[in-house]
Amino acid sequence: MRSLQAYEPIVGPAVLHQLWQLADNLQGLKVVHVNSTRTGGGVAEILSWMIPFMNELGIDTSWEVVEGNAPFFAVTKMFHNGLQGNQVNLLHHHIESYEDTNRANAEKLRPVLEEADIVFIHDPQPAMLMHLCPNRRGKWIWRCHIDASRPYRPVWKYLRPFLETYDASIFSMSQFSRSLPHPQFLLAPSIDPLSDKNVNLPDEEIQATYKRFNLDPGRPVLTQVSRFDRFKDPLGVILGYQLVKKFSPVQLVLAGGGADDDPEGAEVLREVNEAAKDDPDIHVLLLPPDAHRTINALQSCADIIIQKSTKEGFGLTVTEGLWKGKPVLGGYVGGILLQVINHHTGFLVNSPEGLAQRVRYLLNHPEMIRTMGDKGREFVRENFLLTRHLREYLTLMTGLRRGFSSRLVVAA
Ligand code: UDP
Repeated sequence: MRSLQAYEPIVGPAVLHQLWQLADNLQGLKVVHVNSTRTGGGVAEILSWMIPFMNELGIDTSWEVVEGNAPFFAVTKMFHNGLQGNQVNLLHHHIESYEDTNRANAEKLRPVLEEADIVFIHDPQPAMLMHLCPNRRGKWIWRCHIDASRPYRPVWKYLRPFLETYDASIFSMSQFSRSLPHPQFLLAPSIDPLSDKNVNLPDEEIQATYKRFNLDPGRPVLTQVSRFDRFKDPLGVILGYQLVKKFSPVQLVLAGGGADDDPEGAEVLREVNEAAKDDPDIHVLLLPPDAHRTINALQSCADIIIQKSTKEGFGLTVTEGLWKGKPVLGGYVGGILLQVINHHTGFLVNSPEGLAQRVRYLLNHPEMIRTMGDKGREFVRENFLLTRHLREYLTLMTGLRRGFSSRLVVAA
């Protein structure tokens, strides 16, 4: 694993110095993060670098993953969809599966969780654990990574009593925060610029990727990387691409894999393959969970990155695309609005027609592709690299240890 020092050429020495200063007060603190998958999706992506760097900073940090069976993940996907506003049919056996699985995990994790000074619980899957750890001695924080601004009422009504007892919660945007009786913090996600997913690749590797996936480097490439999830709207991307295709010989890459805690992927992938089947210029790629370098290379091959989500907690794939110096066409939703600054780092779109119009505009103005791409990379350097994220976590933990006198909100 790299040391934090490796980031100095990217962020400068002052940024690293500040991290060490902040960590000074937190030496030896026991911190546990809990989520529901070690691979796939943005949360796992973030925790995989955050845990080692927090340890390097002297904070005793561990990562626990709740275990569950298929019915449990079907229910938590219903919670996920319900919190993002979809109507779901929550039945008694769903609740039972959720609660039984949380109880079984609590049995296993209780000693480490009750001992910790600070516990971060990510998303709804393990949210009940706090309730099941009555002898906890630390502060417990619920970190919500999804757009819970307009949840489906019955789902929120069921989860709310578990969430209310937390000492604080964290959301990615103010619009997502809920009325909860504790301090709420705003903290945007980030990427690791030196990871396999984001490090600058040699040109030969990018050229080899065109070849490997049968892409023509002489024609424009549009790329969306995402789990096969309806909120990511892969079918809308295909519709937009088909409109562009009437005027320009574009190629489309839809690359994604599953996440252990996402049971709907196979069905969405089937729909996408069906929609793409007659067109050799649509490349639907099902990638293994550790294909980070391949994803990097595919994003680097793209002329334009797309993230046409209809709901999006943040959208690390947007950050990744901007960091590669590409304009991003993103859905006009959620955390994409923090990153795609309309007309500057990309364009916000509401429909396949809007997507097609913006793609055509960019293809006709190649100089805009370059200037937007440059702006996007600098925008990420300023706002969405892991050093800023670590700084905010350290600040938050310092505040939690000292106690807050009022309802503070820390803006990113
Ligand atoms: N990702 C991946 N393999 C895939 C699809 C996605 O490694 O097949 C990564 C992607 O590069 C990004 C993260 O998973 O780092 C997805 O995070 P995002 O916030 O965009 O969406 P989420 O999946 O959390 O809704």
